[in-house]
Amino acid sequence: MRVDVFTLFPDLFPPYLEASILGRAQLAGLLQVSVHNIRDHATDKHQVTDDEPYGGGGGMVMKPEPIFAAVESVLGAPPQVPVILLSPQGRPFTQAVAQELGKLPHLALICGRYEGVDERVRAHLATDEISIGDYVLTGGELPALVLIDAVARTLPDALGDPEGAITDSHAGGLLEHPHYTRPQIFRGWEVPETLLSGDHARIERWRRQQSLLRTAQRRPDLLARAGLSKTDRKLLDEVQEPETK
Ligand code: SAH
Repeated sequence: MRVDVFTLFPDLFPPYLEASILGRAQLAGLLQVSVHNIRDHATDKHQVTDDEPYGGGGGMVMKPEPIFAAVESVLGAPPQVPVILLSPQGRPFTQAVAQELGKLPHLALICGRYEGVDERVRAHLATDEISIGDYVLTGGELPALVLIDAVARTLPDALGDPEGAITDSHAGGLLEHPHYTRPQIFRGWEVPETLLSGDHARIERWRRQQSLLRTAQRRPDLLARAGLSKTDRKLLDEVQEPETK
């Protein structure tokens, strides 16, 4: 998968993209991220990329010309790939959206700054607008990294353990079960006995039950949408109402 990022702050990307799983995915050729500096496409001699808003008011707005020039110089005019504008006004980013984007061979991301980008970028260059949550950040760079990270995890072979992505929180509509590693007793706190039993079926049952319980306690909204099987219902009832059993 190829991702072209357009930003005024390209230096923010390499350290994160080179570490750990994303770094390995790029070395393995599963993911190729190219970061482009919008400022390189400003045409005036001071390389200005923002200006005051028409109509007055505070803050600066990113000018349309350098953004169009940057995107079109890399991807052609009009670009033949989805162009996503990161924006708090976009559609909410979820695991389902990450999976949807993970199926694309190529996409472009535009990072805003200041008060945001000139509306004509949104209307005539972007083909999609995505928000990573209902809060406002100073720029689209973290949202772009969030999106790339979540999308990369969905690529086949990106994770060392392919099972990992299947049971992850949100992948199946539920939160994941708790995890434990060595030592078996830490400050007197013990690992649940089931996990030490070696009984695979019992462990799977316990994990499913914990996953259901956590989701019920923390995110009843997710549970309501999850469509539980009869077995799931039974597992949940067992732990939710022990006193009535
Ligand atoms: N004035 C704008 C916010 C600008 S924030 C408004 O009220 O809609 C500056 C830039 O940060 C935005 O252009 C966008 O690229 C990025 N950004 C901020 N919060 C974001 C979020 N929740 N999701 C995605 N991008 C965001």
